[in-house]
Amino acid sequence: MLLIHTIEDVRAQIKSWKKDGLTVGLVPTMGALHAGHMSLINKCTERCDKTVVSIFVNPIQFGPSEDFDQYPRTLEADAKLCKKAGVDIIFAPTPKEMYGEGHILSNDFLTYVVPPFFYSNKLCGKTRVGHFDGVCTVVNKLFNIVQPNFAFFGEKDRQQLIILKKMVKDLNIPVTIVPCPIVRDENGLALSSRNKYLSQKSKKDALVLNKILFNIKSCYDNGITDVRALTETAYSIMNFQRQSLEYLEFRDQDTLEEKLTADDNTIVFIAVKVGGVRLIDNIALGMIG
Ligand code: AMP
Repeated sequence: MLLIHTIEDVRAQIKSWKKDGLTVGLVPTMGALHAGHMSLINKCTERCDKTVVSIFVNPIQFGPSEDFDQYPRTLEADAKLCKKAGVDIIFAPTPKEMYGEGHILSNDFLTYVVPPFFYSNKLCGKTRVGHFDGVCTVVNKLFNIVQPNFAFFGEKDRQQLIILKKMVKDLNIPVTIVPCPIVRDENGLALSSRNKYLSQKSKKDALVLNKILFNIKSCYDNGITDVRALTETAYSIMNFQRQSLEYLEFRDQDTLEEKLTADDNTIVFIAVKVGGVRLIDNIALGMIG
């Protein structure tokens, strides 16, 4: 496995693979790898001849009051996991390698990929203004650098996945996006690098997210489709002294349009603050099982 920090070196390696007719898969991450990331990596190594994992805490997708500085950075441990999983390249550029001397004060980096406002102004985009501009821009850059045949993204970040699919379609980017199911811990909590911020007690309180989602799913499976009625079940589960709800919304799986009546194309999205940590989760009502 190669650990590469520069665009030039990664390009040279991939060029030689492409010359040999090999397929390349990309798994974009911000590191602090856990079993959720590993499920994407395993899918990639199964499907592609060569697997590139990018590890980059992308400054332009964090707001000024967000956790960019505190975000866990564990490159050594990540490299061990990747090596064991059969990854061919870890691409871990510095912010300078990606954006030059600075994206705000210098002219080194000025061009952003801005997703449609209708997709980015809701759910996480409501409180994280500009977040999806940063995501689309960095993923576009990674696609241009690595030129993968396949790119693997988790359904954990479902709004991101929907926006990236739209970007790839609208801009005719020659890559196949492969969605990967959410990996949860033994209690049902969706794995996230930010779970590291949770105390033992908050970890218990955090189970409210998946409890609400699976409760709504079971009500839907029993024939309840009225979104107002389904939302009521969530309020009965939450303990508002310990958790604060940022959003609970029912939206279309492709267009993110709001649903008043749930159907098999509906995704239920939730964001809750627990012990000062913002957690997100979602469930597809059409999912079988
Ligand atoms: P991140 O490092 O948080 O930017 O995540 C990198 C990729 O891993 C994204 O496509 C995420 O959706 C995916 N991912 C993170 N956590 C999970 C999880 N629990 N299950 C599935 N995919 C995940």
